[in-house]
Amino acid sequence: MARKRPLVAGNWKMNGLGASLAELKALKQRLEKTPVPEAEIMVCPPATLLAQARWALTGTDILLGAQDCHPLPSGAHTGDLSAEMLADAGASAVIVGHSERRSDHGETDALVNAKGKAAFRAGLTAIICVGETEKQRGDGETLDIIRHQLAGSVPKEARGSNTVIAYEPVWAIGSGVTPTPADIGELHGFIRGELGRLLGKAEIDGLRVLYGGSVNPGNASELLFAPDVDGALVGGASLTARDFYAILGVYAGRAGGSSGPKR
Ligand code: PEP
Repeated sequence: MARKRPLVAGNWKMNGLGASLAELKALKQRLEKTPVPEAEIMVCPPATLLAQARWALTGTDILLGAQDCHPLPSGAHTGDLSAEMLADAGASAVIVGHSERRSDHGETDALVNAKGKAAFRAGLTAIICVGETEKQRGDGETLDIIRHQLAGSVPKEARGSNTVIAYEPVWAIGSGVTPTPADIGELHGFIRGELGRLLGKAEIDGLRVLYGGSVNPGNASELLFAPDVDGALVGGASLTARDFYAILGVYAGRAGGSSGPKR
């Protein structure tokens, strides 16, 4: 198996106004000065900034992602955005099933699955999030929860070429607390095993499993080089070019990922 190129995706969540495009321009400048070709880089701003971000990033390899999509391509769904619309605005990927959408909007595994399929339909990569809550972890249910979320949320059409999984323990998101690298490695190995069982070993060749939850410049080299980690989904620390670039920098001169095709 060829090595996978790690992906570092920044999830801006509900943050960012037009002025925040200055951070993208600053990121672009830093990467022009000192590129990090070892990693694939993505920024997921709010949908309101996608079109402007596309122009701000012209001439770079930085990819754009969106944070959610509706399962249908169009229709009477006030306030929603289809995967086709996001692609049209410049996105090449969309996050689905983030724990904040699961908790704020009651999104079920079945809905996340439908959103993943919508992403494929529109030619977007689906970044499908899974992760256990603090209570589930305390109750020793982590593996059952992840198994269940993967079985329900990952469409059977998912492949390394159209899907990325983000393991994001809910208790680690925005908390400053993280699992140990050994715990992350164990979970990522488990996720890979489950995906192989669900989709087929050959089918998941090249499928990247990201870690997400309180990744910052201080812990990135430890967390991103944990076993079976193919990159990161970064929230708070992706909001400034300085911190996001510092996280990307851990890959400079070092190959990441464990196996699969270079994308
Ligand atoms: C996230 O919500 O996807 C995330 C990883 O957030 P943070 O890095 O802020 O914990």
